[in-house]
Amino acid sequence: RNNAEKFEFQAEVSRLMDILINSLYSNKDIFLRELISNASDALDKIRFLSLTDKEVLGEGDNTKLEIQIKLDKEKKILYIRDRGIGMTKEDLIKNLGTIAKSGTSAFVEKVQSSGDLNLIGQFGVGFYSVYLVADYVEVISKHNDDKQYVWESKADGAFAISEDTWNEPIGRGTEIRLHLREEAGEYLEESKLKDLVKKYSEFINFPIYIWASKEVDVEVPSDEDEEEEKTETSSSEEEETEKSEDEDEDSEKKPKTKTVKETTYEWELLNDVKAIWLRNPKEVTEEEYTKFYQTLAKDFSDEKPLAWSHFTAEGDVEFKAVLFVPPKAPQDLYESYYNTNKSNLKLYVRRVFISDEFDELLPKYLSFLKGLVDSDTLPLNVSREMLQQHNSLKTIKKKLIRKALDMIRKIAEEDPDESTDKDKKDVEKSSDDDEKKGQYTKFWNEFGKSIKLGIIEDAANRNRLAKLLRFESTKSDGKLTSLDQYISRMKSGQKDIFYITGTNKEQLEKSPFLERLKKKNYEVIFFTDPVDEYLMQYLMDYEDKKFQNVSKEGLKLGKDSKDKELKESFKELTKWWKGTLASENVDDVKISNRLADTPCVVVTSKYGWSANMERIMQSQTL
Ligand code: ADP
Ligand code: MG
Repeated sequence: RNNAEKFEFQAEVSRLMDILINSLYSNKDIFLRELISNASDALDKIRFLSLTDKEVLGEGDNTKLEIQIKLDKEKKILYIRDRGIGMTKEDLIKNLGTIAKSGTSAFVEKVQSSGDLNLIGQFGVGFYSVYLVADYVEVISKHNDDKQYVWESKADGAFAISEDTWNEPIGRGTEIRLHLREEAGEYLEESKLKDLVKKYSEFINFPIYIWASKEVDVEVPSDEDEEEEKTETSSSEEEETEKSEDEDEDSEKKPKTKTVKETTYEWELLNDVKAIWLRNPKEVTEEEYTKFYQTLAKDFSDEKPLAWSHFTAEGDVEFKAVLFVPPKAPQDLYESYYNTNKSNLKLYVRRVFISDEFDELLPKYLSFLKGLVDSDTLPLNVSREMLQQHNSLKTIKKKLIRKALDMIRKIAEEDPDESTDKDKKDVEKSSDDDEKKGQYTKFWNEFGKSIKLGIIEDAANRNRLAKLLRFESTKSDGKLTSLDQYISRMKSGQKDIFYITGTNKEQLEKSPFLERLKKKNYEVIFFTDPVDEYLMQYLMDYEDKKFQNVSKEGLKLGKDSKDKELKESFKELTKWWKGTLASENVDDVKISNRLADTPCVVVTSKYGWSANMERIMQSQTL
């Protein structure tokens, strides 16, 4: 085309497109839900803008916030259009040419090796899945602030953008035209498309229509020779009675008709736009929650969410919410922890989507949760900035945290692996025991670090979070155990909870600091994650028990009558020793009862860094 401007895709995008277009990946279906999800996002955006400015919606068909699917079997084109916000020329260049989200590179690599595309939507590249089924794609888009443009690409490393001077004006929004590949013919079958929408896009909050064919009976004039046969059928008898008034006048000239099948087209609605969160939780099935989670989180892996909580908050601030614990943590959850602030909750006000970038809804450490909040208390017609400062958000946040922690606690409570043998005896094995088995360990392996970060960050919920903590210890037998279980095993007279920190369990098990504690049958917790050192600076006590690092000064294992005697007899030695070592190297030399076989150890002072912490700090400054 004459007026087309050519652009090259960002290298990353180009690579992804190469993979997609050559993909033998069997589940090509995913492109449709990605396009519908984009259409839905675009509709959310225009609806949000219309809250403060009605004009943006325009008039006539433009006000219909809906998604349409149409197919042209002859030309082998699939059309998907929305009346969403649309894209300006600049948007087209930026959004359909470069990748903004971090972690995409890693994703592309993973796709290359595993071929699994189920998480494509989470990486901000869902659009390109069109090249699984099409070899040529046109995007026609009209944004209120710009003219109508066409973006097109044959996935050959480049795309072109032209001002649209040849298509019908689309009003506002975006129409995607997929020129389907030979082997993607199945996507020209209405029934296939209907099935896909029902399967993957059930929880899209805008109506989805398909231009569906329908067989209808129509009456057409019949030929003379067919007439005789026809008079015998009941349908023509009916006709005759209907038309009996005319009959006497001139029955011969009355036009004879017959019924034939004819194909007509009409828009058929494929989803009933239902806000699952408004329904009674008792009436929502597990499968519905799972599907809702998939749409919300753009996570179409086969795994179910680990847990969910659906509730209504009443009182000064009213809202409904659904929270999910995903089956897996995103790869970069902790890499970008301190740089990003993004919570994964969608905020709705009275059914209208407002934002999914409200950091005020959940603290950082719970940002791994997915979900939705819909409030009737918040005002609808104010800017996002104003809303962000609304007083009710504090109350909402507080309740969300409480519910989230309850939900996590329940994963543990319902996990048969979590209960001690004692608890187990009386409880009958229930049918979903198998399903719940090992779920908390799974949770812990994926998100345990978040709980630790929570203990550090959230003083108000520290105790609740500490209950969720899991670790290995000298008595946990290779399994995870909790503080409550530790306490239940404490020796009579034991006052403190003992722990030791280091890089791994194997190394810690050999530590001379443990010798004596082990001999005396005390349990010691192993903390081997670098974050544990920070954690223990915040977690001072639990259920009135203090934490004692066994490699630090102040370890008390009950009174020993010989202590005083020993101190006295070694007085000279300790004095000499301290004098011999330079004072900047050691603070003190003491007789202690912490060792069994090893003659001496270097111990950290009560308020100093443990050896492990020294190591962590060193590795951070390198
Ligand atoms: P994501 O949806 O995660 O951002 P996609 O690759 O699916 O990633 O889409 C990239 C971007 O292209 C979107 O963020 C959006 O800005 C733009 N876009 C895609 N489809 C549409 C559409 N139908 N209407 C408006 N903008 C769209
Ligand atoms: Mg998308």
